[in-house]
Amino acid sequence: MRLVIVGPPGAGKGTQAELLSEALSIPHISTGDLFRANISQGTPIGVEAKKYIDAGDLVPPEITIDMVRDRVGEPDAANGFLLDGFPRSVEQAEALSTILADLGATLDSVLSIVVDEDAVVGRMLARGRADDTEEVIRNRMRVYNEETAPLLDHYADQIVEIDGMGTVDEVQQQILTKLGKA
Ligand code: AMP
Repeated sequence: MRLVIVGPPGAGKGTQAELLSEALSIPHISTGDLFRANISQGTPIGVEAKKYIDAGDLVPPEITIDMVRDRVGEPDAANGFLLDGFPRSVEQAEALSTILADLGATLDSVLSIVVDEDAVVGRMLARGRADDTEEVIRNRMRVYNEETAPLLDHYADQIVEIDGMGTVDEVQQQILTKLGKA
């Protein structure tokens, strides 16, 4: 299966994606994790991306899209993958369509994790990540609403809505059921 998981910051996308990738035996491709690995290795992508990540802004599309194209073209992604944190804008969604068309592939579903934004700020502050200060979280929320939320309309035909306010296990079970994999 080729899946995308979308949701506001703190929705639990990463946690759910990790479990789902194990359950479905497909690689979990998180652009945030790829950027963080580049930052810790001090690569040119990492040096460039860090400025944006520290501010809670989107990393420019040319860097992000090339990185995703390279990753989904790797052999372990040939039979499916779960994209987490990409696409994050309509522009990136259009780029993903081109990447998939070049691979002769299509997306199966777009999982949309729905949460109460106020409730998840506390979750994020508890996570202790470098970009999880209150000011940066507020900016990531703004960027999500302006840039990423329009994806829900863009993907209207493929959206599978998930209530993200339950426990980790409840949310995972709901995802598997809605994908017909429970
Ligand atoms: P995440 O781990 O998904 O919360 O991403 C952390 C940060 O990485 C975001 O706040 C952005 O600065 C950057 N980032 C991750 N994915 C993307 C993307 N698809 N496009 C642009 N920036 C991204």
